[in-house]
Amino acid sequence: MISPNLQDNCTPALDGENFFFEMGPIRPPSEGSDHSLLIRTTRNCSWNRCEFCGTYRGEKFSYRPVAEIKKDIEVARTLYEELQAVAARGGVREISSQAVRSLWAGNPRRYGESAGNLTLKWQNLHNVANWLHAGAKTVFLQDADALIMRTPDLLEVITYLRAAFPTVARVTAYARSQSCYRKSLEELSELRQAGLLRLHVGLESGCDAVLKRMKKGVSARKQVEGGQKVVAAGISLCEYLMPGLGGKDFSERHALDSAAVLTAINPAFIRLRSLALRRHSPLLAQSKEGLFTELSEDGVVAEIALLIANLHCHSYLVSDQMSNLLYGVEGQLPQDKEKILQVIDDYLQKPESERLAFRLRQRRRSFLAVYGSLPEPLEEKAELAWDALRRESPEARERVDAAIAALKEGFV
Ligand code: SF4
Repeated sequence: MISPNLQDNCTPALDGENFFFEMGPIRPPSEGSDHSLLIRTTRNCSWNRCEFCGTYRGEKFSYRPVAEIKKDIEVARTLYEELQAVAARGGVREISSQAVRSLWAGNPRRYGESAGNLTLKWQNLHNVANWLHAGAKTVFLQDADALIMRTPDLLEVITYLRAAFPTVARVTAYARSQSCYRKSLEELSELRQAGLLRLHVGLESGCDAVLKRMKKGVSARKQVEGGQKVVAAGISLCEYLMPGLGGKDFSERHALDSAAVLTAINPAFIRLRSLALRRHSPLLAQSKEGLFTELSEDGVVAEIALLIANLHCHSYLVSDQMSNLLYGVEGQLPQDKEKILQVIDDYLQKPESERLAFRLRQRRRSFLAVYGSLPEPLEEKAELAWDALRRESPEARERVDAAIAALKEGFV
């Protein structure tokens, strides 16, 4: 139990039911594991029309008043100070799960049964504790496009945030290419000066036909202009590219045009996030109706090779998403290009039975990494596929594809 005088230190206006800060549903993997404090600056996605995306379907977009965001920062700061105080009293420098439990148990007014959304409050406490544990250095601004805010508002939030947490060295956010395009170089430079050091942008494709088909709401030209401005402002730019998004019909154009756009932007990072047909996404329904033909897994791998061979930029290429098949596709361009292409070639040159076994193993591993175990129907499908592979049955390919499709549907 924490000491009574710490309870007395709770900020009265923020205590009880109101003591929480909003959290959105997602963050980039590089801001994951709670290494970043999450501050929600807008709710959901203002665009919400991309055919492959189901993240914010049915959710209404709204701006959050700056005063409300500041109140969230205050809550996070109170937790930050209280956790440090609990740890100091225990004579330890690190924030432990014991400190989290003590703070929770010692504040019935704030964490008791009638104190509102306890799930969110528990997530808040864990986010701040893990962030503190990692050094409290980075903050990620949620949700889908923090850059859509008025520049003076965003500057006010970032300035307030950095004053509240002097340890913060980097503020990062998701942004749409369209919002990057709309901001002037001066505005982006001011944001950079204030502490916005990295933007994560879902480029997805540099091919106009694919962008239009997927209702991305931006052209390749605007992606280039917006991206170049971000880079010129000195903000580290991470562009997400979606292999497979052109399906069978546009695979080659998708790869070549995307390579041209990324080369023109020259972002610090390019992250591959292969197409996965997400629940609640229109593209999943279209695929089931035969209106979109997915590229095979090997087709996606070959498409990535075509993309990389045509990239002429100085970016760090990362493949850290579960939807990607090959994790070894990573390195600094241009010097690592041949090494990365070799990883892909090594896979594509394997006999088909080995590629099938590799794919099945990888997809199973990804599923287990998220859920810990396989539900019985999926386990059965995977077993049937292994059995067909062992017997070198002519049905092996069909069985592996069916098992992988079921696994993917299970975790997207
Ligand atoms: S992909 Fe991004 S911009 Fe498109 S709907 Fe989803 S969150 Fe919004």
